[in-house]
Amino acid sequence: MKILHDVHNHNIFSNCCNDNSASTDAFVAREVELGNKIFGLSNHIWDESVKGASYWYSKQTITKAEEAKAYLAKAPASLKCLFGAESEYFHCHDRLGMSVEGAKRFDYMLIPHSHQHMRNQVLWDLPEIQEMRAKIAADVAAALPYLAEDTVKVMANALGEAHLKKYVEQKTDLGKYMADAAVKSFYDLCANETFIKICATVPTSIAHPFAFCGIPNEIKNSFLINIPDEVLYDCFTKAKAIGAYCEINCAAVTEHGMDLEANQLIRVFKNAKKAGCQFTFGTDSHSVKSLEIIRVGDTVADTLGLTKADIAEYLQDGVEE
Ligand SMILES: [Zn+2]
Ligand SMILES: [Zn+2]
Repeated sequence: MKILHDVHNHNIFSNCCNDNSASTDAFVAREVELGNKIFGLSNHIWDESVKGASYWYSKQTITKAEEAKAYLAKAPASLKCLFGAESEYFHCHDRLGMSVEGAKRFDYMLIPHSHQHMRNQVLWDLPEIQEMRAKIAADVAAALPYLAEDTVKVMANALGEAHLKKYVEQKTDLGKYMADAAVKSFYDLCANETFIKICATVPTSIAHPFAFCGIPNEIKNSFLINIPDEVLYDCFTKAKAIGAYCEINCAAVTEHGMDLEANQLIRVFKNAKKAGCQFTFGTDSHSVKSLEIIRVGDTVADTLGLTKADIAEYLQDGVEE
């Protein structure tokens, strides 16, 4: 199967894009060259009507992202352009970065559950880090009794995990910790009322499911192996029930290695397929150059034996059997 759509990518509207040439025009031109039929731009977006954005998200609003729409409208007729978003799910607070009303301003939505590098938003600190932070807060409060409680809290919370690590012995098995949290966040996302409503309102994919962010590529498979097939199958059964699609993220596949026998994400997708989930494809490209990795999608689709019926309806014209 040839994948002729890419609905997950970031250009200059996302703060993490470092390619200054990644304008919307440049993305559209490259998509035409690549022969794609459907292109969806999906920058990182936190709906400004939803409280609780992190500082990083607070500058990436719907209103800002909508500036790209004028450029998408200029694309040649051979390329169908969609306006999408990769929003967020802060599992620690069961908070979605998009409201139902906000989602209506898009053609489709991508919601990740695995941005686990966002500590205390998507993933709580490791228990030993939490203990050390609490100890520092208690020691500061005891040494400086004139400080207000919230001041002490701000001081203790300002210390990042990377900094606190040198004071603790890591006892937690990080692979197991992240895998367990990913399962829980997937279930909780599928039970989140706003998410359920968004899925019923616009085509919505769970972005890069079970692809843990913030760890080296070399260890990703060894972390993911902690999640058994039955659990993955049950997770995707829940996703299917609310009409959420499973994203096949080409960058994440590549990060897990192109030996697809060893690639644990393929096992994730096999379980999603078994559960009857439909798929969407994206490169998660942050540059013009990497839009070409959509070809990885062809290999994954063939490995999984996907047919047109396995693709989300709104993208079925964007594949060739
Ligand atoms: Zn993401
Ligand atoms: Zn992304």
